[in-house]
Amino acid sequence: MELKDNYRHQGKRKQLVETVRAKGIKDEKVLTAIGKIPRHWFMDSSFEDHAYQDKAFPIAADQTISQPYTVAFQTELLAVEKGDHILEIGTGSGYQTAVLCELGAKVFSIERQQELYKKTKLFLSKIGYRPKYMAFGDGYKGLPDYAPFDKVIVTAGAPFVPKPLLAQLKVGGKLVIPVGENVQVMTLYTRTSAKSFEKKEFGEFRFVPLLEDKN
Ligand code: SAH
Repeated sequence: MELKDNYRHQGKRKQLVETVRAKGIKDEKVLTAIGKIPRHWFMDSSFEDHAYQDKAFPIAADQTISQPYTVAFQTELLAVEKGDHILEIGTGSGYQTAVLCELGAKVFSIERQQELYKKTKLFLSKIGYRPKYMAFGDGYKGLPDYAPFDKVIVTAGAPFVPKPLLAQLKVGGKLVIPVGENVQVMTLYTRTSAKSFEKKEFGEFRFVPLLEDKN
C-alpha cells in the first residue's frame, strides 16, 4: 500500500470538513481532526476516489467505514477531553479510532472480526496512531479489565444497550450508542451516579449490526 497524501487529497479533505460543518457539527477540534486524517488511507484502493465524499463505504470482511458526518456526530456527543479513557466497540477500519487519538484520548478498541482486528492494528501503528489497547473480542462484554472508562462509543447498530457497557462507565461518563434493529436512534447515556443514568436521543442513523457471538 502506498501512503501518499497530495494536494488533491488535502483539497478534497478541506471540502469534506466544510460539508460536515454545514450539516451542523460545531466542535472545532473534531473538524480539525477530520481535516488532518487522510481518510483515503483507511479505504481499499478501489474506493480511494470516494474517500472524501460524506458517505460510508465497504472495507474488508463485509464491514463499512462510517460516514464522516456520523463519526463527527458521535465524537461531538462524547465531548472528548485530552487524556480521557475511551472504549470503542467496532474498530473496523480504525478511522474513528484515529479521530479519538487525534483528540488526545487514550483509546481502547474492540473488534470481533479477526481479519480486521489484525489488519487495522498493524495499519494504525504504521501511520503513527497508538491506541492504548486493541482487542480481538466481543464488544457486548466491554473490557472489564481496563474499566472504568470516561467515555464509551459503539460504532455498530446495537439491538439493545449492553449492560456491561453502562457498568464500565465512570460516574459522569458518557456512552454514545446507536440503538435499533433496522434503523438506529443515536442515544447518549450519561452516568449521573453509581445507580442512575440520564438518556437523550438524537435522531436516526444506519449502521452495520453489532453482532452477538453464538458460542
Ligand atoms: N469505527 C469503524 C466502524 C466500522 S463498522 C470505522 O470507522 O471504520 C462496525 C464494526 O463493528 C465492524 O468492523 C464490525 O466487525 C464490528 N463489530 C460488530 N459486532 C461487534 C461486536 N460484538 N464486538 C466488536 N466489534 C463488533
